[in-house]
Amino acid sequence: MLFSYVSHLECAKCAASYSHRERHQLCACGSPLLVRYHLEALRKAWSKSDLAGRDNSLWRYHELLPVEHEAHVVSLGEGMTPLLPMPRAGAGMGIPKLYMKDEGLVPTGSFKARGAAVGVSKAKELGVRALAMPTNGNAGAAWALYAARAGIEAAVVMPVDAPYITRGEVAISGARLALVDGLISDAGKIVAQAVRDEGLYDASTLKEPYRIEGKKTMGLEIAEQMGWRLPDVILYPTGGGVGLIGIYKALLELREIGWIEGKLPRLVAVQAAGCAPIVKAWEEGRSESSFWSESATIAFGINVPKALGDFLVLEAVYATGGCAIAVRDEELLAEQREVATLEGAFICPEGAAVFAAARRLRASGWIKDEETVIALNTGMGIKYPDTVRADAPIVPPGGTLPTGSQAGEGGESR
Ligand SMILES: *Cc1c(COP(=O)(O)O)cnc(C)c1O
Ligand SMILES: [Zn+2]
Repeated sequence: MLFSYVSHLECAKCAASYSHRERHQLCACGSPLLVRYHLEALRKAWSKSDLAGRDNSLWRYHELLPVEHEAHVVSLGEGMTPLLPMPRAGAGMGIPKLYMKDEGLVPTGSFKARGAAVGVSKAKELGVRALAMPTNGNAGAAWALYAARAGIEAAVVMPVDAPYITRGEVAISGARLALVDGLISDAGKIVAQAVRDEGLYDASTLKEPYRIEGKKTMGLEIAEQMGWRLPDVILYPTGGGVGLIGIYKALLELREIGWIEGKLPRLVAVQAAGCAPIVKAWEEGRSESSFWSESATIAFGINVPKALGDFLVLEAVYATGGCAIAVRDEELLAEQREVATLEGAFICPEGAAVFAAARRLRASGWIKDEETVIALNTGMGIKYPDTVRADAPIVPPGGTLPTGSQAGEGGESR
């Protein structure tokens, strides 16, 4: 039994193939490369029962991951996050079978740890000594920390407005950190220049092929946690869209090896109204998005004005009969509070956007009676303290507890 059944890299647009044993970034045609596996061989060699007794981490699926030698695995214990029933939140929006996959419970506090674990492990396997990337915060934090664990140097560029804690995560890892008074697209230009000047490994979203393989494990886990029976709908907060592309890729691969069958879940790309290029493209029936100028949203992880993999996100949405929907910041902040109040889960604003979208899609009838719906919460609310208003009366020592007051009364600030 091989540790990995990786076979080669394939261009998502022109189908050119490349070796997974050499460093590659984009295809010569400019499109992202996808990792391919020997799925026919895997179908014969691997069965669901092989998973029993394996580690409760994403490495339990190592046959479908690109790292060839176990010695190169760089792990902080990521993966196998809980799939929680959300009965009270679900009842409130008419979706009794609502579940949340909680990605707040991974190292670095966001699902970006999945992409970093697999991406950094593969970089180590390829002999990379120094990498660079632009980020909206969470990815840079995860890659900087995993790079530290791997002994790889990292350089990270993020907008000055990115969540403050993610700066701290990069700084404490010992990585080079730079801030740009602009968007992630501006950070990307600075990184591209440094990559050219210094010969760094470009770890930008989809400019290396392996991050998506880490993110795809969300799809593998959902299938396993559901007992290999798929939900009707999966909602995902979409920035670069790698998580959604990854979930779709995972489901196709599982179908190919015979572990799941039937219709795939309808995949929903959720964006913020202040940055909704994918939604606009979907509404216009197009296969690519256009740059969204002056984008702004409190849900920082999904503030991506133009995603390199937009055509792959749209393909996944069209192919599964899904949709794309945008929610306003006020709506998602109200939903964040609702989920914490009803379920005790302090989710991130991006995750809250997904719950707000579920509510709307149920109200419009797009989500039907009794459908099973999975909402991805991509990070922990604790990373975004500014989104919560926590005003409260101050009582002098020896005073009494005021009645009728609730923290945060008066709505959300910012
Ligand atoms: C990066 C990020 C997203 C968007 O992820 P993509 O896969 O790039 O679309 C969503 N939520 C959070 C918390 C993020 O950090
Ligand atoms: Zn190509």
